Amino acid sequence: MSQEEPALSPLARAVRAGFDTDTQYGSVTPVLYPSTNYRFPCLGQGKPPFDYARTTNPTRSLLARALADLEHGVDATVTASGLGAITTTIEALVGPRGRVVAPADCYGGTWRLLDHLASRERIEIDFIDMADPGQVQAALAAPAELVLVETPSNPLLRITDIAATAELAHAHGALLVADNTFCSPLLSNPIDLGADVVLHSTTKFINGHSDVVGGVVVSSTTELGEQVQHWAGTLGLTGGSWDSWLTLRGLRTIDARLRVHQENTAAVVELLQASDMVPVVNYPGLPDHPGHELAARQQNGFGSLLSFELDGGFEAVKAFAEGLVAIDLAESLGGTESLLAHPATMTHVGMTPEARAAAGISDSLLRLSVGIEPIGDLTADLTAALERAARAAQA
Ligand SMILES: *Cc1c(COP(=O)(O)O)cnc(C)c1O
Repeated sequence: MSQEEPALSPLARAVRAGFDTDTQYGSVTPVLYPSTNYRFPCLGQGKPPFDYARTTNPTRSLLARALADLEHGVDATVTASGLGAITTTIEALVGPRGRVVAPADCYGGTWRLLDHLASRERIEIDFIDMADPGQVQAALAAPAELVLVETPSNPLLRITDIAATAELAHAHGALLVADNTFCSPLLSNPIDLGADVVLHSTTKFINGHSDVVGGVVVSSTTELGEQVQHWAGTLGLTGGSWDSWLTLRGLRTIDARLRVHQENTAAVVELLQASDMVPVVNYPGLPDHPGHELAARQQNGFGSLLSFELDGGFEAVKAFAEGLVAIDLAESLGGTESLLAHPATMTHVGMTPEARAAAGISDSLLRLSVGIEPIGDLTADLTAALERAARAAQA
């Protein structure tokens, strides 16, 4: 590089991932490699860089490199789903019947996975309130191999102190794994705060268009990265090349998307807070949110997920959710489109009612993933929904 060429920022490098890789025609965007297998140039001289696509694939490698860089990690393994990322992490890093400590209010699918692994005696699991340092301390009094944090939590947006939890986990010989799906690598980099491994459901903000299911495990050391890569290939949980190519395309707009996501979220929060129908809004950007200062310290923004309680019982919840025109009633989050979910009957239905109650997920809680639509359409839709809910509550 000559003296005059400016060095690219990590974000610019990530959103340009693969731009200089087509040596045949010089295509600007990278070529997709769907091939499952690659020729060995000669016999007995070891493997070529890519041999079989379950283990390694050039398109997946581009995405993995971009995500490792964005998360300030050493290495990354792209998986077929976010739960594939968690399964791979557990198999790679937890021994037989090893103990895992996880948040009681984690993603519903994660809760089910850990619960099922425990029921088969693959692991031992303790679900705790991860935002309460006293509970973390108490849980680590017994030996543990892995502590999972998910911050902000789903769907209550509780904030966990990553640096403090990493320190506690390390002091007790456990690894700290952070599910950073809700923040994306742009709003938080848990490895900088002491996490050993960061994982994402790339289905959400990283792909950002609700058209690919995928995951990634980013490791802070080469050794952890090799174990994760080995287990992903062994389990057959690596991501497909088409999915990787689409996810690379989604990643290119992540910065612009997140700016609009957050701008819209601020307006939506203001609208909900002003309503008599909404007694509680859970959003870490609010100064009275219990995790506000912590989120301001460890995140680069408050994100575009929020949840709120609606007065008026189930009829009001139903009236609010049915009849929306700019917002879809659907699971998932982090796409360009705004989505409303009712955790008790949708995202968190896999939890037992007792587990939901313990986690603080009531039947009148609604979660919003605020999209990047014109804000006027969102506020008009929400205003009408609140009026429907108020009428239903009076009926
Ligand atoms: C969606 C999600 C997952 C699971 O990811 P999939 O891609 O659906 O398998 C895990 N953790 C969090 C926080 C999620 O939002």
